[in-house]
Amino acid sequence: MTTAAPPQPTFENGEFVPSRDVPFSPELDALIHEIRAGEAPNIGRFCGYCSAPLGQAAGCEVCGESTSRTEPLDKIDRELAQIYVAKRKREALFVHSGAWTGILLATALSILLIVFLPGWTKVFAIMTLVLGGYFAGVFFGNVLAQTPAYRSGLKLFAQRWSEYAATRASQ
Ligand SMILES: [Zn+2]
Repeated sequence: MTTAAPPQPTFENGEFVPSRDVPFSPELDALIHEIRAGEAPNIGRFCGYCSAPLGQAAGCEVCGESTSRTEPLDKIDRELAQIYVAKRKREALFVHSGAWTGILLATALSILLIVFLPGWTKVFAIMTLVLGGYFAGVFFGNVLAQTPAYRSGLKLFAQRWSEYAATRASQ
C-alpha cells in the first residue's frame, strides 16, 4: 500500500475553495461550535460524504456528493467533529502566539524607554507598556496572525480529513 501525500487546500484570491479532497464546511464548523456550547442539538440532515449541512438540498455544495448516491446522515460523526475542533484550536494557537509576540515587543520597547528617557519623560515608557502592549497584542494577534492561522488551520484539516476518509473507506 502506498501512502499519498496529504491533499492541499485550494485557494482562489486568498479564499479557501472547498473540494472533495478538502471538504471543509464553514456552516458545519459553526454548527459544531454551537452543539459543543449546548446551543444546538446534534440532529439534522447532513451530507453522507462530508457531513456538511444539506437543508432540503439534493446535493452537497461543499463536496459535490448527491443524496441519491450517498444517503444523508441525521447526525454529525464524533470523529469528524473532533477534526473541526482541532482546526479551531490550531487557529487559536496562531492568534495567541501572535498576540503574545506583540505584547512582548511592546514590553521590550518600554524597558528601553525606561532606561534611556530622561526624568519625567519616563512616563512615556509606561504609556508604551500599557497602550502599546494592548495595540501590539491586538495587531499581531488579529491582523498579522490572521492569514497564517487560516492557512495552517485548513492544512491541518486537509491532513486529518484524509486520514479520517482513509480509515472510513477501509471499514
Ligand atoms: Zn458533502
